[in-house]
Parts: sequence; structure tokens; C-alpha cells
Amino acid sequence: AHLDRIAAVDGKVHAFLHVDADGAIAAAQAVDARRARGDELGPLAGVPVAVKDVLTTKNVPTTAGSKILEGWRPPYDSTVVERLRDAGTVILGKTNMDEFAMGSSTEYSAYGPTNNPWDLGRIPGGSGGGSAAAIAAYEAPLAIGTDTGGSIRQPGAVTGTVGSKPTYGGTSRYGLIAFSSSLDTPGPCARTVLDAALLHEVMAGHDWRDSTSIPQPVPPVVEAAKRGMTGDLTGVKLGLVTEFGTGEGAEPGVLAAFNDALAALTKLGAEIVEVSAPHFQYALPAYYLIAPSECSSNLARFDGVRYGLRVGDDGNRSLEEVMSLTREAGFGPEVKRRIMLGTYALSSGYYDAYYGQAQKVRTLITQDFNQAFEQVDVLVSPTTPFVAFPFGSRTSDPYQMYLADLFTIPTNLYGGPGISVPCGLSDGLPVGFQIMAPTMADDRMYRVAAALE
Ligand code: GLN
Repeated sequence: AHLDRIAAVDGKVHAFLHVDADGAIAAAQAVDARRARGDELGPLAGVPVAVKDVLTTKNVPTTAGSKILEGWRPPYDSTVVERLRDAGTVILGKTNMDEFAMGSSTEYSAYGPTNNPWDLGRIPGGSGGGSAAAIAAYEAPLAIGTDTGGSIRQPGAVTGTVGSKPTYGGTSRYGLIAFSSSLDTPGPCARTVLDAALLHEVMAGHDWRDSTSIPQPVPPVVEAAKRGMTGDLTGVKLGLVTEFGTGEGAEPGVLAAFNDALAALTKLGAEIVEVSAPHFQYALPAYYLIAPSECSSNLARFDGVRYGLRVGDDGNRSLEEVMSLTREAGFGPEVKRRIMLGTYALSSGYYDAYYGQAQKVRTLITQDFNQAFEQVDVLVSPTTPFVAFPFGSRTSDPYQMYLADLFTIPTNLYGGPGISVPCGLSDGLPVGFQIMAPTMADDRMYRVAAALE
């Protein structure tokens, strides 16, 4: 049924870069065979799932939205995909994204943008716009995203779906094509909070192949979502960060929907406490030094020798020239901008002033949030300052695009979990409500999110 739905609507939505119909049918038949034999079935047996094209899938094309990886079929599955298979899910295919997960609109995909099912002339968010749009358009009930600065939560917000970024290290990065290794976090996308929690439990947990994976049990997110569904939040303290409301802030329609949701949560027994994160204004600038710096190092591996595209290798050119021509042709403008910014920030003479300084700011922001969490259970905010915007309206000024992640970036910097849950409409377009929790307290945010839903 989902393959039929994809065939019917994906020509308009363009959520998928690759539909693996044969693989999906084979996986579904394997589940049927196990069921017929009376074998034990995985917890999500037979449930279709779409996977962001930045996670490797064995023998299935994986491009990270880039021309430089066109035609590459990885020889191995990422840990997240391996766990999806073990759970019995049926992988439908690979979803569209901004190239190498850099962007907030999917407009930077080398394969053309994804259209928001709510209004095909608007962006579905990014970088994981394909995964969110696939869910919003009923092409898949579940999807996998990755969140480095907001790429699961912001697409969730602007497509009226649920997007959850687990604690950094709570889900494995093995087989995730690296953008910014100290921030990258795979996580679930779904239509309900409980669905997201079910997927979260299956994909999370320690992995020896990822050196930053946390060797602790997965927080009880399914149990927490079920508890939240009872609608009782007596004694739960929700923190509002004062500084989120100053400066650029959120547009009025977004704030109105957010405040209505906040009022609904207080009716369920939650208490609102105002807290301060004095260094919040430096989060976005620090992110845009740390993420490009790490990306400039990670993307050095795309040299025309090891993977995918190779340009100009005519037997007369030097290796340097072939690498340069390949990278010139294979990377899009935003990726080139990030590589240049990052290379500059890491160069000797500037390292201390830029990268080193940003790392210090990251520590201060972590301290701010740790102190805030001494006073409250979770922090809440709008997920993104504005609703889905029309194509082309933020591409001419990178800063306007970067603002999409104003409220999502702090969680990535301190490493904690954050979830976006739909909280109404502004001008007929979905608004997301963000709940942030301390590291490895992912269950807390699921409880509040499920209560709000
Ligand atoms: N939009 C942010 C960026 O461009 C976040 C991306 C992400 O989370 N992968 O870097």
C-alpha cells in the first residue's frame, strides 16, 4: 500500500531519492514467512520505514544528496539500518535531503528540492525534508532523520509531524556519512509521539563501532510516551528560556500557537518557570564555526579516488588536478561555503580566535543549560521561528537560512535530546512545539510531548 502511495504522490512531493521496491517487497515477504513458520517476530515486524539518504544501506544507493556520491552503493549497512532490519521493519527507500545535511529547506539537494505536502510551493524544512514530507504525505508511517543543528526537528515542525533528536551518543553514528561528528545524531520521524518512541527504542542503544556511543541502557521512552498519553502532568516543571524571546525571536503566529499549547499544558498540571541561558545569543555563531570546521575535515575524504564521481582523469592530469576538478563539479555552493569557512576557522593563526573560541562558548552554553535543568524538568520553545517559507525566499542570504535553527541548535551544542510535536497552525501552516531535556533524560520529553498531542 505504501509503495502504491509513493507511486501516486511522489511525483509531486519528491520525498524519495531512491525507492527500493524490490528490497521492500522481499523484506515484507520475509516477515510473512517468519510469521507463517511461527518464528519470533521483531518489535516492528512489517512496518514500513523511509531512511534519510545520509545513512548507508548495503548495496542500495546512498548519495547524501550530493553529486559527488552519485552511483555509490555502500558495501555495508549503518548500525541504525541494521537495527531497523533486525526489528523486522520494511525499508521503502532513501529520502531527499540538503547536500551532506547542510541546510534547512532541501533546496540544497543536488537532486532538486522536496515539496511540502501542505503547500507544494513551500519548503518541507531541512536538511531532512524528504523524511518529514514522506510522513506528512502518508508515503511512510515512520522515517529516520539525522539532526546536527535541527534537521529532524525543524522539518517535523514545518510539516506537522513529530521529529525527535535523541541524546548525542544515544543513537549510533556508524555508517552515518559525517557532517559534524561532535553534533550528528540519528533519530526518529513519525506521525505520533508514541510511534516516534517505538522507533527510538529500536534504533537506539550502545554500539561499540561508534566511539562516542553511550554505554548505558536506552531511556524508557515508550513507557514515558504512554504515561504522557494519560494527560496528567502534575508537578512537571516546564522552563521558558528568557533569552529565546529576545533578539530575532519567533514570528507572531508561531508565538500565538506556542502560547496556546503552553496554556493547554498548564491545564494538565504542568508548572511554568522562567530560566536564563545568558550565552544563548552566541549559540548560532558558535555552531556556524564548529559545524563547518568539522565538515571541512570530514569532507576531505571525497577526493575522486575513494567514492563515486571522478572528473578529468584522462591520463594526462595530476592527482591534485583530478581531485580539484572532481570537488569543483561534485560539491554544491552551500557545501563549498562550509568547507571554506571551516578551513579558514581551523587554519593556523585563526584556530584559537575562531574554532577554539567557539568551543569555549559551547562549554558556557552547556553550563547555562545544566544550570537551567537544576530548576526544571524540561525546557520548551517554538521549534523554529517561522512556518514553512516559499522556495527561494531565503537562499540569497545564508544568514536568513541559518536562523531556521535558532532554537534547535542549543540542544546539539550541549548534547541533549529535543523533540518537535505539532501544536496548531499559523496562517494554515503547521507550527512545532519543542521540548528539550537533559542528556540521557529523553523519556522526560516524550512524556510531555505525548501529553500535548
Ligand atoms: N540547518 C542546519 C545546518 O545547515 C542544521 C543541519 C542539520 O541538522 N543537519 O547546518
